[in-house]
Amino acid sequence: RIVYVNGSYVPEADAKISVFDRGFLFADGVYEVTAVLSGKLVDFGGHMKRLRRSLDELALSSPADDEALLAIHRELVSRNGIEEGLVYMQITRGAAERDFAYPSGPVPASLVLFTQAKPLRDTSAARTGIAVATVPDLRWKRRDIKTVQLLYPSMAKMEAKAKGAGDAWMVDEEGFVTEGTSNNAYIVTAEGVVVTRHLSNDILHGITRAAVVRIAEETGMRIEIRPFSVEEALRAREAFVTSASAFVMPVISIDGTAIGEAKPGEFTLRLREAYIAEADANAI
Ligand code: PLP
Repeated sequence: RIVYVNGSYVPEADAKISVFDRGFLFADGVYEVTAVLSGKLVDFGGHMKRLRRSLDELALSSPADDEALLAIHRELVSRNGIEEGLVYMQITRGAAERDFAYPSGPVPASLVLFTQAKPLRDTSAARTGIAVATVPDLRWKRRDIKTVQLLYPSMAKMEAKAKGAGDAWMVDEEGFVTEGTSNNAYIVTAEGVVVTRHLSNDILHGITRAAVVRIAEETGMRIEIRPFSVEEALRAREAFVTSASAFVMPVISIDGTAIGEAKPGEFTLRLREAYIAEADANAI
């Protein structure tokens, strides 16, 4: 596999980053993951907009403009022959003497990209749905910034796996679901209302979430943008998550309790199909 590191396309075994890189020492960096369908990038503009916001929040200057980043994404997709899969892009503050304060001099940011070939449209998880297990949300309070500081979501995922679940749903101190470890969370109530938490610093502002909320509205679904509790979710008729890599993924049980008929529900499947059709048609 060819990866991109600071201006060069190199075989992954030859890629090098300094041990003093602040991404490595402080998780001082941000990232984006963009889906590839039919060899093209899904909602690249949305990912760039969020990237700019994440960079601004951390006073990190970008090593390249959107056009240059698009060209690198495309080049890597082409060099690795990716038809379906993901492009991971990471920007960190670069290498400097270890100090909590950001370096005062001009330190070039590090820019790293790699691809992952994998089926996204047709997966066994999407056919059967996944189980989730709830865990307390113990992350920091700026979850709206897409930083590479992902250790707690990793721990949460391991806890979920130990319970036989495919992912964790993280829960705030009031008992409301914030989101999954790497996806936004939704339920469909018995009355057929799609519910997902409002945007704030408590969750990542998903690019897929924005599209799915809009598609739900456009196709005449009732939708409420508000927090939902674990208790309410256990009574829901459907549940699902969204992300750039999972698209719209059915959730069929929560903490071992079946949701609806414990199979992908009709709202979820309609949204999945509509999302993929649109993503595919608009990919660049
Ligand atoms: N929430 C978290 C914590 C995430 O890490 C992600 C994606 O990585 C998402 C939500 C979904 O965001 P997107 O739809 O932009 O992939």
